[in-house]
Formats: sequence, C-alpha cells, structure tokens
Amino acid sequence: MDHDALRHWSKRAADWAAEYHATLGDRPVRAGTTPGTTAARLPDAAPEQAEDLETIFADFKAIVPEAMTHWQHPRFFAYFPANAAPASMLAEQLANAMAAQCMLWQTSPAATEIEQVMIAWLRGALGLAPHFSGTIHDTATTATFCAVLTMRERALGWAGLTEGLSGQSPVRIYASAQTHSSIDKAVRMAGIGQDNLVKIPTDRTHAMDPAALERAIAADRAAGYRPAGVIACVGGTSIGASDRVADVLAVAKSADLYTHVDAAWAGSAMICPEFRWLWQGVDAADSVVFNPHKWLGAQFDCAVQFLADPAPQVNTMGLRPDYLQTLDQDAVTNFNEWTVPLGRRFRALKLWFLLRAEGLEALRRRIRDHVAWVHELRDAVATLPDFEVVTDCPLALFTFRYAPDGRDADAATRDLLTRINDDGRVYLTQTLHEGRFVIRMTAGSFATTRADVMTVRDVLAELTGQA
Ligand SMILES: *Cc1c(COP(=O)(O)O)cnc(C)c1O
Repeated sequence: MDHDALRHWSKRAADWAAEYHATLGDRPVRAGTTPGTTAARLPDAAPEQAEDLETIFADFKAIVPEAMTHWQHPRFFAYFPANAAPASMLAEQLANAMAAQCMLWQTSPAATEIEQVMIAWLRGALGLAPHFSGTIHDTATTATFCAVLTMRERALGWAGLTEGLSGQSPVRIYASAQTHSSIDKAVRMAGIGQDNLVKIPTDRTHAMDPAALERAIAADRAAGYRPAGVIACVGGTSIGASDRVADVLAVAKSADLYTHVDAAWAGSAMICPEFRWLWQGVDAADSVVFNPHKWLGAQFDCAVQFLADPAPQVNTMGLRPDYLQTLDQDAVTNFNEWTVPLGRRFRALKLWFLLRAEGLEALRRRIRDHVAWVHELRDAVATLPDFEVVTDCPLALFTFRYAPDGRDADAATRDLLTRINDDGRVYLTQTLHEGRFVIRMTAGSFATTRADVMTVRDVLAELTGQA
C-alpha cells in the first residue's frame, strides 16, 4: 500500500465512519459475541503475499463492528463514558499522518508548545489557580503512577532511584477506600507494596475522615514508617464519592506530605462553576489528574496532569542520557522528563481541535444536560415498584437495586442486569456498595439525548413486568 492508496482508503474509511456513527443507535450497545469467536475467524498465520485492500476492508466490516462494544453509542451507560467528539477524531487523523515522536521539544516543537498552551487553557477552563503547569499522559493510571513515584522519591530524598528500596524504612501512602484501583496498582508498581497503602476510613458521605488520616500518619511515623503522600478522590468510580479536598490536603500539608487528587471522571465537570465546590481547596494540591477522554470529549487516550511545581516529578521521572542531550535544553521543555515513556504521542492536537470546534459553552451545556437527565431518571427509578436508589451523586451517576418481595435482592439485581444487557437497548454495569450488588447508571456520551437516558426507565419497567 502506498500513499496514493492511503488517500483513497482514508476517504473510504471516513465514509464508513460517518455511516457507522449515523446508525450507531440501531446496534446493540454491547458486543453479543462469545469468547474466541473473532479469533476463530482469522487465519492462523500472517499472509506471505500482499492482500488487496478491498478484501481487507470487507473483512473489517464483516468481522469487527459486530464484535465490538460501542463506546460512542448514545445508550452506553456503563463504566464511565470515553467520548470522541468528531473534531478530536479529525485531529487524531492529522497526528497519525505526521506520526511524530513528541519526546523532546526538538523532535516536535509544535506538539510541545501546543501541549503547554492546552494545559493553560484547561487550567483556566477548570478554574484552577494560575501556578499550575502540567503534562498529558495516556491514562490516569499513568499520571497517578508518576505521582506515587514522586511521593516515594521525595520522601526518600531521591535515594530510591539509585539505591533501590531495600534498606529504606517503608514508605506509606494514604487514600480512602473509595479511590480507584489505579492507586493500588501504582503503589504496587512503585515497589511500595500494597500493605503500605493505608486505606483511611470514610464517613457517612463516603469521604475520607481527615482526623483519622492525621492519626494514621502520626502513628506510622511513631512506628518507624516514612509517610510520603496522600491521594484524594473527587468523583470515585464506584459511586462517585468525593473526599473533602481542602480538609484532606490541609492534614497532608501539615505533615509535609505530597498530595495527588484523582478526578479522572469528575474533573471535566469542573468547567461548570456550579460543580467546583466538589473539589473546593484543590489549588493546594501538588498534582491533579483528570481525563479529557472521559466526559470532555477528547478521543481516547488523553489524561491531563496538573502540577503545582513540576520539579519533584521531573527529578523523579527525568533522565538525560548523552543521546538525548540537546543544546537548548535549559530554554525548552522536554516532556519525556515528566512522564513514563520516552516516545510520546501528539495528544495536545485533539484538545486544540476539540476546545475550538466545540467551545466551552457547548461543552458545559452537555455536562449540565447529562447531570439533569440522570437525576430525572434517578427520580423515575425511585418510583418504580421494588426498585431502590442506593447511592446518589451531584454529578451524572447513581446506583440502584431491584428488591422484589421474597427474593434475595443481590440475586434479583444481578439477574436483572444480565437481562438488561442481553436486551441490548442500553448497557449498564455493576458495583459492590457496602457489600451489596448494585447497578450503576451514568450518562456522558456526546450522542446521548434525554430520551436515550429515559429509555432505561422503560427497559426496567418492561423487564420487571411493570410496563
Ligand atoms: C477512569 C478512572 C481512573 C482510571 O483511568 P484510566 O485513564 O483508564 O487509567 C482512575 N480514577 C478514576 C476516579 C476514574 O474514574
């Protein structure tokens, strides 16, 4: 395949994509396929001779879409949304065409500088203080991993990087039980060990108890541990719980600990001033992560990490072997020194296209609509016989369960969820809340309408014989 063929097939692919999106609502949301089906449709080995693009494209159409779960579907209400606004898809095509490695300023000056400007635009859009700089990662997991490594090294005086961790007194990190598993993973991968991730008890609102945090830090210090950092959560994945960020950060600061705020999903909502109370005090954080690829509409992947002072993270992640030295390095930012990989994708381009092609006002309206529709649905579900709303959130998320008389509610709810997803009109997922099986409902797709959200009520009523 040469570049003339690429021109031709790019147009064919664009036509396919437009058709795919226009008819997405007619497909079941979740892939109906069983494990192994797709693999069985492919040959065992790569072809020796080139194949015709016409055949390859036909196979794509025949094999792939029907075996995919459609994340851009208007009735995708599972996990959290991973949006892809058309403008961000277009920018990805252009980034693909240049196929640059954005590791140093010199290898991609425009990518580095647009990344810096996009961080500044987003900082302003989210109402964060002007002292924050930042960088773009693939996912929140990676950003949190960088923050945890920075906590560790700051506490060890940067000795762990060279000497390793053996012989050091154990480092401890603090978070509530509502935080995402990416924090457990970061602590494991950082060599800190999951036993040294201290889960602080939460209060009735599922927010971390700051007094318990303070006691845990003091007790660990007395016992010879090395408290290093605190991770606060804003809009936790399970039920959308948020810590009282100001109180948690105040305790951390007074103990001289490094702080990271995980707002991977909820961060996008902070473009709306009325939701900012949810992370009130965030300007005191050392590090904040949110995923524009979730609710803001940037094509996956795109995680933004704001840093109050990049120096501790650059001291931890940065490494300059001879072959990466550049003559101008004191005048420019080389973003590989802020992040895990050396090679980096040009992710800032899709933010630039997205923010310009949509405008903040339209992005705010979308988030406000999602929140209003989900709350309307929550109230409708609460009136259905045998349904109980279990948790609520100021943003677009609630959980519920189905508890008909005489049946085990966990089993009945689990069974109902299977039937909802087999039905295919909507896609919902579950979580365990305080030991109970509950169904999560969240809406955040760009294609979603109020009618799509209210379809959930109809599906629930029909499947439980109340239509
Ligand atoms: C989605 C999510 C994550 C993980 O995000 P990735 O970008 O997939 O790593 C972490 N924390 C919270 C609160 C999330 O919602």
